[in-house]
Amino acid sequence: MQRDAARLLYGNAVAGIMISLLTSSFLVFAFSYPRVDPLKKMWWFGMFILLLFRFIDVIWWKIKLQNTEFDGKKSITHFVIGANITAIMWSIYLVYCTNQVNDVQLTTTIIAIAATAGGSATVLAAHKYTAMFYPCILLVPGSIGLLLSEEKSLHLLGILGLSFAFVMLLISRKSANFTVHTLFLKNENSVLIDSMEEKVKQRTQKIYELSNLDPLTRLYNRTAFLEQLKRVTTKSEKQFALLFIDLDGFKKINDSIGHKAGDDILRETANRLNQFTSNTQLVCRWGGDEFLVVFAETDEKRAVEKSNKLISLLSEPHTTENSILSVGATIGIALYPNHAKTEDRLIQLADMAMYYQKKQMRSAVCVFNEEMEELFAYDLHLKNGLTKAIENKELRLVFQPIISSQTLKVAAFEALLRWQLKGKDIPPDEFISIAEQYGLIHEIGAWVLNQACLEVKNWNTEQEVIVCVNVSVIQLQDDNFISIVESALSENLIPPELLHIEITESVFASDLVVITDQIKSLQAMGIQVSIDDFGTGYSSLSAMQDLAVNMVKIDRSFVNKIDSNGKAIISAVMHMSEALNFTVIAEGVETQEQSQALLNLGVHYFQGYHYSRPLEIKNIPAYLEENQNNT
Ligand code: C2E
Ligand code: CA
Ligand code: CA
Repeated sequence: MQRDAARLLYGNAVAGIMISLLTSSFLVFAFSYPRVDPLKKMWWFGMFILLLFRFIDVIWWKIKLQNTEFDGKKSITHFVIGANITAIMWSIYLVYCTNQVNDVQLTTTIIAIAATAGGSATVLAAHKYTAMFYPCILLVPGSIGLLLSEEKSLHLLGILGLSFAFVMLLISRKSANFTVHTLFLKNENSVLIDSMEEKVKQRTQKIYELSNLDPLTRLYNRTAFLEQLKRVTTKSEKQFALLFIDLDGFKKINDSIGHKAGDDILRETANRLNQFTSNTQLVCRWGGDEFLVVFAETDEKRAVEKSNKLISLLSEPHTTENSILSVGATIGIALYPNHAKTEDRLIQLADMAMYYQKKQMRSAVCVFNEEMEELFAYDLHLKNGLTKAIENKELRLVFQPIISSQTLKVAAFEALLRWQLKGKDIPPDEFISIAEQYGLIHEIGAWVLNQACLEVKNWNTEQEVIVCVNVSVIQLQDDNFISIVESALSENLIPPELLHIEITESVFASDLVVITDQIKSLQAMGIQVSIDDFGTGYSSLSAMQDLAVNMVKIDRSFVNKIDSNGKAIISAVMHMSEALNFTVIAEGVETQEQSQALLNLGVHYFQGYHYSRPLEIKNIPAYLEENQNNT
């Protein structure tokens, strides 16, 4: 508002200065010609210098300040000082004239000064007090002088001057109030417009965020990132690396500790990614615990180096509310333009490299190569085949005997799944992991349980033989698992004592609370539970105690090394079995020597090629009979 007032004052200033210059020159030189009163000459010179200064001030303002965010108050002060000194100069002139000049000159002077005073009402309206008192300063001292003069005829002029000054005071006040009010309204409107603009800006930002940013991490979402990536791929041919990052162990934390901790980890991961990459526009939360990052202008070697550093950064512990948690990260890299030129394909290839790396070893980097595409295609081929394997009757079970070390009699059979896809045997190690990855294991696992229960009935004519069924952790985590087991037993009229469930040691890496509950439920039903591949993974003594499994199957890698350090481990397991009260089975017994050594160590049961390979169903009755007769 101050600035607007200054603009008005300075806007009218040139006209005011010119009028003052013309009037003063006219009054001083026109009447006294040819001989000019030297005092008047001095006054005029003073006035001229003053007006010159004011003129320079105006021009300075117009050139330098007018279009800037200048200090309005300071400019007004400049202007007002100039205007008031001008008024005082006029006042001095009038007072001097009242004593010096003849009537005609005096009247002309008063008229000229009164006219100047009249004009000031509008010219100075933007500064109320200057506008009001400018005419007074101009006229009042001179008019009083006239009133006090001895010549009566001049008294009337004095009264006229005073009245005019008074009327001008009122008029200027009114006009100044009006101007100030107008300026106020104008400013209020602009404040309103400014705040509306601010609101519109905020809304636009909000809409932008909603459609482009992931609400949790505030990283780019899929759509926005793809757009950015498209821009990069169309704009230049410069190579860059696209990283597909998948957190390791995130799901476990999310499931066991809770979503709040999970969210904290995702947010912190986003912070670390932003911190690591200079261009935050090329970081994206692709979904769940997957992130995409672009390393601009980076070759393969550099991308791998940077990715390794990134893995270290992302794997640093997270401190949440009341615990310190750790996740890892596996990274797949695809390079532009070497591997692909479109953004969709790049992401697909980086994803493939990540997937491949996860299978090999977590928390490591892998650059895409064509071989992976073949492996990936093969996995997809298996997955597609598996979805129809039951329907197409391509699955069957074989059974491997488990022998008592004391009596050498068959105590149980382990059911092992076989799959023939278009006449070709696919090893279970290959297809089971695919079934697990794509969620097919639930249906297949239920089929296995049912088939195993169906078969076990046929063997239990003369002796009690148990069937052991492998169950993957994913099945165990399913809420319906217990009822699936129940119906397999009841539909085949099998007592629960004849069924054993084998779970691999990898259960220890999952949510133990859920697993322990499921195991307790199975045991409560009368089913025994064993830990498979013992010694290869993550078991801890305390977890073993909590789980209270019935049996432990020592992995065949230890049996294999029984001559060297395998022996010590097996002997330690035997000690544990006494303390924790579980039975021990040795897997992969291939020779008589191994069998003897295991017997010496006190192992309860043997399983392995030395006794029998897994048997086709039709061969089991004969095997059982022979086993019976031999012992
Ligand atoms: P596992 O449960 O440890 O099964 C034992 C594996 O060792 C079987 O391989 C068996 O053929 C093999 N084996 C037995 N004795 C010997 C031996 O003396 N020497 C050697 N070298 N190997 C021996 P298989 O049938 O290929 O099964 C591999 C794995 O696939 C199994 O390991 C099990 O983890 C999984 N699997 C098999 N069937 C099923 C199933 O129905 N469900 C689930 N979830 N997993 C299954
Ligand atoms: Ca097994
Ligand atoms: Ca095993």
